[in-house]
Amino acid sequence: MSALFQLTATEIRRRVAAREVSCEEVARAHLDRIAAVEPRVDAFLLVLADRALGRARALDRALAAGEAAPPLAGVPVAVKDVLDVEGLPTTCGSRILEGYRPPFTATAVARLEAAGAIVVGKTNMDEFAMGSSTENSAWKPTRNPWDLARVPGGSSGGSAAAVAARLVPVALGTDTGGSIRQPAALCGVVGIKPTYGRVSRYGLVAFASSLDQVGPFARTVEDAAAVSSVLCGADPFDSTSAARAVPDFAGALGRGLDGLRIGVPWGFLGEGVEAQTLARFREALGDLEAAGARVVEVALPHLPHAIATYYIVATAEASSNLARFDGVRYGLRSGEPSDLGTMYGQSRDRGFGAEVKRRIVLGTFVLSSGYYDAYYLRAQKVRTLIRRDFDRAFEACDVVATPTTPTPAFRLGEKTGDPLQMYLADIFTVPANLAGIPGLSLPCGLAGGLPVGLQLLGRPFDEETLLGVGAAYQRATRHHDLAPAV
Ligand code: GLN
Repeated sequence: MSALFQLTATEIRRRVAAREVSCEEVARAHLDRIAAVEPRVDAFLLVLADRALGRARALDRALAAGEAAPPLAGVPVAVKDVLDVEGLPTTCGSRILEGYRPPFTATAVARLEAAGAIVVGKTNMDEFAMGSSTENSAWKPTRNPWDLARVPGGSSGGSAAAVAARLVPVALGTDTGGSIRQPAALCGVVGIKPTYGRVSRYGLVAFASSLDQVGPFARTVEDAAAVSSVLCGADPFDSTSAARAVPDFAGALGRGLDGLRIGVPWGFLGEGVEAQTLARFREALGDLEAAGARVVEVALPHLPHAIATYYIVATAEASSNLARFDGVRYGLRSGEPSDLGTMYGQSRDRGFGAEVKRRIVLGTFVLSSGYYDAYYLRAQKVRTLIRRDFDRAFEACDVVATPTTPTPAFRLGEKTGDPLQMYLADIFTVPANLAGIPGLSLPCGLAGGLPVGLQLLGRPFDEETLLGVGAAYQRATRHHDLAPAV
């Protein structure tokens, strides 16, 4: 029999609902697992043992009194430290927010808690979600559970590592240019970036508001679907959340693949994909074909411009969003400055790390008068062309498939000296954010003992097809059963 910390969210909820196990027992099992493994992985910035046990006991009392088990009853979750939980610190992996405690809870977290999930901690991340390795955290790097000398990916590396190391069955991340899908791939777990607008951004500290989305990490597509059904939906506190009905995603999981068309942009995959990663990708396509799907080639001609476009749009929005961290309203304030301007300057100088400063400078530049038309406006036009590429591709196919990343997990320190190399880790993930479409990353085997991710992209608001294909793939291959030995 599996230990409680090895169970999926679906199985935990089933046992809790059947009164076979209490929420407190489940919470304790995961807190014990965290105590044993966390010193090696460093996935968390904050572990909330007392809060978690208190909530678990309260839920146990409600269940004992005869209440029906909510959809995520007793499921432990970890939350990326960019999402607010009332009264607890939110650091965004930055020193500038030191001491800040938000007076409200992010809608995404509130929805999980209302569904019976138990928040066990806040996870490590690249500062303000800027990065692909979690090495930009002001506090510590997180390690990849498959090889502790390697990065877990980023920026949601703490959440991905926590799920991979069986510290929690489910975690929340955010994805602005790949920060859910890329760490999911590098850690061998499932990650979903929902359609822009599917999940409320209320209580999410903004990086690039037109790109940011909240989404789940899990080990199975079934669990990711269960969490998505709770997370998604319009929110009066976020005017960009979409007023679209949210299906019960579980309904999509049994779909077969007969007649499904999978589009592959071979022209974009040619160079730069490491050989074994490409081999796993080709095998995944073969497995999907064997299960009834048809693979067709699609052209996405503007994708080679996606990284450049992303780093203009994202930095422009970041420079504006991060202007509020000035030493006055939140967190860190520099010592005894002589005047207001010096106080702003010193607080920001001490509070922000190098990557955040680089992006504020770049974003301010592309928005400055004289350069706005040449950079920002042009990037917006290319963004539209990328969106149209996908619209056209989805006339010929139902999902687009690529490897999630060009290589498996790289070594700690390997890319920190070369920001451009780091940016290229997201070459296959950023197009979905620019186009606003949903994306799913699934484990598709190992390369040199390290996980490889298969990325599936879908039509806007068609998470169901992604989940259906992902579930069929997991039934056929069971690559998701592979676990690191951490
Ligand atoms: N790695 C990308 C960046 O640094 C994406 C980050 C994200 O999705 N939050 O911007």
